[in-house]
Amino acid sequence: MSQPIGTLLSLAESLRNRYGRKLRRVMLDLGLSCPNRDGAKGFGGCVYCDVHGSGTGAQAEGQSLAEQWQRGLAKARRLQPEGPAAIAYLQSYSNTYPGLEPLKAALEFLAEQSQEAPILAIGTRPDCFSPEAADLLAAYRNRFDQVWLELGLETADDRVQALIGRHDSLEHFHRACHLARQRDLAVIAHTMTGLPGEKPDGLLRQVQEAAAAGVAGIKFHQLMVLRRTQLEAVWRRNGVALLTPEEYVERVADALEYLPADVVVHRLVAEAPEESYLAPQGWPHKNKVIHWIRQEMIRRQGWQGKRAVQLSPTRPF
Ligand code: SF4
Repeated sequence: MSQPIGTLLSLAESLRNRYGRKLRRVMLDLGLSCPNRDGAKGFGGCVYCDVHGSGTGAQAEGQSLAEQWQRGLAKARRLQPEGPAAIAYLQSYSNTYPGLEPLKAALEFLAEQSQEAPILAIGTRPDCFSPEAADLLAAYRNRFDQVWLELGLETADDRVQALIGRHDSLEHFHRACHLARQRDLAVIAHTMTGLPGEKPDGLLRQVQEAAAAGVAGIKFHQLMVLRRTQLEAVWRRNGVALLTPEEYVERVADALEYLPADVVVHRLVAEAPEESYLAPQGWPHKNKVIHWIRQEMIRRQGWQGKRAVQLSPTRPF
């Protein structure tokens, strides 16, 4: 279906439609691990992941979940002094691994805060999302307005999974989406572009696989070199080929045209704290990159979903 040129369904718009306001993510860290760090599948993590499992590291600094929540909520309250203000986001590591007990305790605590945070978001790896984990999240669907499962896809090419030391697979992604779909949980897929060994159409493939898996939302992320990652050592030794902002804008604009119009775009470009960011150098502020993506959509007379194919999520598992 034709849409106005340049249209995309952003998270901000989706939240405004449902709650009449913005909600701020409160990043929460349970101090867990992932099978790619503790030796079950690998050591040291995916090449781009820092020691805090792409999270805040708050537990390692001695902050309890309740303390993290209070600090994050206070920031969210600056934007929304009354009523719903936040999305409770269990971000770091793989929150359904190795067992479910820490997650259970966290969900009980956060369910008590659902007046402030009507949305619960849980990040994990596809291979760590079991039927038991799916049942646990489904049990909280009536305690929050929405429960989101944030799944790392990162590449649709298992060969690249091996190159980046991730040790997960596209099949696991589809299996996890299937488990979530059976329980009416919304999946937000994390994509990445610019990975070593990735083909030029790598992001398009991720979008098409995510659409086929019936995701409700998507995040776009460029490869960055951060301190205290395996990629940092490679970058310092030999350099790493990284995308220019122009290349990134082109890829995301392409991907948006193939993304179904009803999939909410949670993020168009990633950012990292200044103290941990190393490369690529010379990128403008993320707001400018977002502006460029929107301008590129207009320049090519495109919109989200212009080239999307209607797919029904029917992978048999
Ligand atoms: S799976 Fe996630 S937490 Fe584990 S190393 Fe990779 S990015 Fe980090």
